[in-house]
Amino acid sequence: MSEYISTRDIEGRPPRQFYDVVEKGLEQDGGLSVPVRYPRISIDDLRAMADHQKEQGYLKLFVDVRSRLVGDSVSLDKQFQMAKAAFTPEKFPDAVNGNYAPVRQFDEKLFIQNLSLGPTAVFKDLAMQPFAQDLDYVLADRIKAFLGASSGDTFSAASESVGALPNTDMFLVVPSPKHGNMSPVQWAQGAKNASATVHNITMDMPFGPLQDIVKNIQKDPEFVDLGAVNSINWARVASQIPYYFSGYFQAIEQSGSGAKIGDEVDFVVPSGNMGNVVAGYVAKMMGLPIRNIIVATNENEVLHDLIQHGVYRRKKTALTNSPSMDIDAASNSERPLFDLFERDPVKIRQFMETFSRTGSVSLADVGMGHLSLRSLGFDSGVSNNLQRVQTIRTAYEVYNDIIDPHTAAALHVTLERPKPEIPTIIMETASQVKFEDTTAEAIGRENVPERQERFRNIERYLQNEFAYVALRDEEELKDFIRAHRR
Ligand SMILES: *Cc1c(COP(=O)(O)O)cnc(C)c1O
Repeated sequence: MSEYISTRDIEGRPPRQFYDVVEKGLEQDGGLSVPVRYPRISIDDLRAMADHQKEQGYLKLFVDVRSRLVGDSVSLDKQFQMAKAAFTPEKFPDAVNGNYAPVRQFDEKLFIQNLSLGPTAVFKDLAMQPFAQDLDYVLADRIKAFLGASSGDTFSAASESVGALPNTDMFLVVPSPKHGNMSPVQWAQGAKNASATVHNITMDMPFGPLQDIVKNIQKDPEFVDLGAVNSINWARVASQIPYYFSGYFQAIEQSGSGAKIGDEVDFVVPSGNMGNVVAGYVAKMMGLPIRNIIVATNENEVLHDLIQHGVYRRKKTALTNSPSMDIDAASNSERPLFDLFERDPVKIRQFMETFSRTGSVSLADVGMGHLSLRSLGFDSGVSNNLQRVQTIRTAYEVYNDIIDPHTAAALHVTLERPKPEIPTIIMETASQVKFEDTTAEAIGRENVPERQERFRNIERYLQNEFAYVALRDEEELKDFIRAHRR
């Protein structure tokens, strides 16, 4: 049970345990780790889980779901202790009654699930905080340093969690202001945790090439001991799955009489690298009654093209008001595609190698219909800057609510579709506090809410002597790592 293989394994290596595949993120053959079989959760189990959540909150549910993927190399007691250390009222001061991913109702069938109560106000906290515990409790002797690239949210979520471990060095690279669209609060959040051991690095290039440099270094034998914290790491995907269960139970309960466990729902998810979406997909494969997962992209519509046209094409990154979705590829798509290709590693290799060589590949190239991803339950939609600003205004005027521009991408796609006939849950991936200028543009500066305590005057951290180091290229980055890792 809960064993893992690589999507690109053509040699039939023996399956591995959870803690063997989360060290690096990428498999040695270049593939992604996937469960040999998705653990199945029965309707009876779902009912029991719903009751557990009501009585004992998110923690219990988190362990209930995630332990099926972690397996028993770590005892359930210990898994519970780790979850308790990850989700604390100090880190999530606005979580009410132990609910770390609360759902609120917008309309009869329309719900929104808040995933941004964590220390850096983004859904990534919900997986990065547990990952820090995995490292501390289980992997401490195996990984001492991390290297990662980020377009804005990953790096502060990482330095706020993994970066806080005393024996871990972190090297986090982001595009310089000229090549990225990070907000002032995001720059300040990154600066907050910079130190002699947590290094924020800027480079004068867009996220795509920057990520390629990071991947090159990770493949370099000299740097094999560097761990990865990016969204393809299975530890992150696994920790994102429980909140789909939580959102489902809450939406069914709030739907009132007539709604019951077993009814289908749709999720609408703002998406870049497809990490969050893939967690929902795995939840569905585990037996959570999800009908469609609707992927909402911004102008960087790589996933929309893949889902609607069967074409996976690298595009020049457009800088948008939803910077955490400004990507030129969606690496996590390899996981559902592996299932779509009937788990044939040769086909995945052919597909992904064509993509990396030419920047464009189509499902037809491997003999699949161009709408095949829709048969797995995916659907998609797109928005642009202006539409997201208008949607923030709509949320304010119609639902009396304030959402961030990533969440607005999902609400825009939802409102474009026919009125939902089954419960539809929008994932709120960030708090507007990170993107106040866009809030102001949409609803006026005077209506921007007061910041939560922990974000007041966060700009002061930009004065941190370690805040950011500017480097030029791959060689300089390697030299910097050599000089600074312990
Ligand atoms: C990272 C991020 C996304 C995209 O998530 P993926 O897992 O890469 O698809 C969406 N919204 C926000 C606010 C993010 O930080």
